[in-house]
Amino acid sequence: MSERPVTELAALPHLRARVRRFLAEEQARAPYRPAIDAWLTSASAEFSRALGSQGWIGMTWPKEYGGGECSAFERLAVVEELLTAGAPVAAHWFAERQIGPGILKNGTERQKRAFIPEIVAGRLFFAVGMSEPGSGSDLASVRTRAERVPGGWRINGAKVWSSGAHRAHYMLTLCRSAVSEDRHAGLSQFLVPLDAPGVQVRPIRSLDGEAEFCEVVFDDVLVDDDALLGAEGDGWKQVTGELALERNGAERYVSLYLETMMAARLARPTRRDHAYLGETAAAMWSVRALSLRTLAEENRPQARRELDAALVKDVGTVFEQRQVERARRLLAGRVPGEEDRALLRSAVEHAPSITLRGGTTEVLRTIIWSGLDTGGGRA
Ligand SMILES: Cc1cc2nc3c(=O)[nH]c(=O)nc-3n(C[C@H](O)[C@H](O)[C@H](O)COP(=O)(O)OP(=O)(O)OC[C@H]3O[C@@H](n4cnc5c(N)ncnc54)[C@H](O)[C@@H]3O)c2cc1C
Repeated sequence: MSERPVTELAALPHLRARVRRFLAEEQARAPYRPAIDAWLTSASAEFSRALGSQGWIGMTWPKEYGGGECSAFERLAVVEELLTAGAPVAAHWFAERQIGPGILKNGTERQKRAFIPEIVAGRLFFAVGMSEPGSGSDLASVRTRAERVPGGWRINGAKVWSSGAHRAHYMLTLCRSAVSEDRHAGLSQFLVPLDAPGVQVRPIRSLDGEAEFCEVVFDDVLVDDDALLGAEGDGWKQVTGELALERNGAERYVSLYLETMMAARLARPTRRDHAYLGETAAAMWSVRALSLRTLAEENRPQARRELDAALVKDVGTVFEQRQVERARRLLAGRVPGEEDRALLRSAVEHAPSITLRGGTTEVLRTIIWSGLDTGGGRA
């Protein structure tokens, strides 16, 4: 097992500088407003294509399919710079973070050749189809059905809270493909085109007035055999692997753009500010170190990766929620423009959802405790 130093990131100043130059050029070419939670809320297909043309989507993936075969640390440096800038990365986010890796791990050669180069180019966007009405935390209870028909599958059911489904081309959809006593068996994943006959994508408006997630209804949707990702019945194993990628990224400690705002607005911190800033720095660096550990140890067993991801998401999202409160206190009366005030408001409105999406804190803590308890997660 190769242990790489956490400080390795500090050795990537040139790459970080390139990303910052690119962001400045994009701002000049097609101005965007920095966003809170940019990976969920701020999408620009044009920005994703521009990022793809730099080779910054699928950076770690095999060259054979258009990837860059870079290290996970190089990818992380790019991702941290993009999130810190509040850049409009939401269009390609899920495709890059978890769907592409899922296709590379479980897909057929045909699927890899069809999907991966398009994702890398920033042209193909995905939604994650796990949650359903009544099946969120209890994901194994999904009721969306996939039935075998000649030449393919017929899908019926509904997904909910599907982020970005209104701009995605495909949804990786978790379905029940066989009835089984064991709830974790009989689940399969399908790559479903969202423009297929019988699919309805209905945006849901949230508290802040935005409609960033959707309900997606499947009514006798026919997909061919090639839409099945991985082996039939392997859906649970695949989904938990994807959730580990979802829970363990930089978006768990640097997604809110608030640190960037604090750095800009508190160039001369008062004595009172120091305690808040010190608390921010300590918490953020601890979560980051935890997240980097998984990257550093490439051969970590899957069970251990899942446990680590649950730890990062639990500690990271609690940090981010507190960060909103810290920023509100620190920046109150000190943010000069309406734009900054709107960002702070947006952070406050988003705060409750931070510990829900990707698995709630209560559920993560159950995973953490049972993982430690059963030894499945021990290194
Ligand atoms: C902003 C946002 C974006 C999202 N994007 C997506 C997406 O793109 N794709 C997708 O599939 N889903 C998405 N989700 C859904 C998200 O994964 C679910 O909201 C989450 O898993 C919780 O499920 P639920 O909403 O059904 O709540 P429930 O499962 O009904 O939970 C309600 C409450 O009960 C608690 N609870 C439930 N079970 C237990 C237990 N066993 N022990 C202790 N407490 C428990 C929970 O912690 C929670 O507080 C998104 C959610 C949000 C908020």
